[in-house]
Amino acid sequence: MGRDTGPKCKKCRREGEKLFLKGERCYTQSCPMSRRSSPPGERAKKHRPRRSQYQLHLREKQKARRIYGVREKQFRNYVAWAKGQKGVTGEALLTLLERRLDNLVYRAGFASSRDQARQMITHGHFEVNGRATNVPSVLLREGDTVTVKEGRRARVKGILDTNKDREAPSWLERNIDAMKFQAIAPPNLEETGYTIAANLIVEFYSR
Ligand code: SF4
Repeated sequence: MGRDTGPKCKKCRREGEKLFLKGERCYTQSCPMSRRSSPPGERAKKHRPRRSQYQLHLREKQKARRIYGVREKQFRNYVAWAKGQKGVTGEALLTLLERRLDNLVYRAGFASSRDQARQMITHGHFEVNGRATNVPSVLLREGDTVTVKEGRRARVKGILDTNKDREAPSWLERNIDAMKFQAIAPPNLEETGYTIAANLIVEFYSR
């Protein structure tokens, strides 16, 4: 299954919460979720059926995929990897998603959305530990540093200015003047800003 490219705000309404898919608009009053939160579709407004266990698990999986912009096959691989880790599988899965380069570029404010971060990475705007990369799914570890390439700084500076009021999480240290940020600790899952029941996702793939 390919990347989901449908209307973004509709996805938030479907999941019943803000997924922050559209960049700056998500942080303003023009976000439709500030005005209504009913699922899309006329029928859904009148008739809200009780969800089955399967639907609950499916929706949680879809929500996480939509937030992080991960294709089904890769998401399934992430879950399989997380199952092989020590500790709570759901937490291992969320930690893995948070470690993706596109997520970190967005979290640090160097892009307004994960979609934009992916595009900037594939266009070669960033270096990881001094080496050029154009792979959004690269996983960063504690101590890794991401720098904006020389020659791309003017464009990224404009985006950073737009996002300067959006705080970076405590596990990222950013230096706006030097146009770089570093992962100084493992991702803190309490700072994701989302309510993802990762255990339901793991159960979905355990059926
Ligand atoms: Fe649209 Fe962003 Fe609001 Fe979601 S959070 S409904 S993508 S503006």
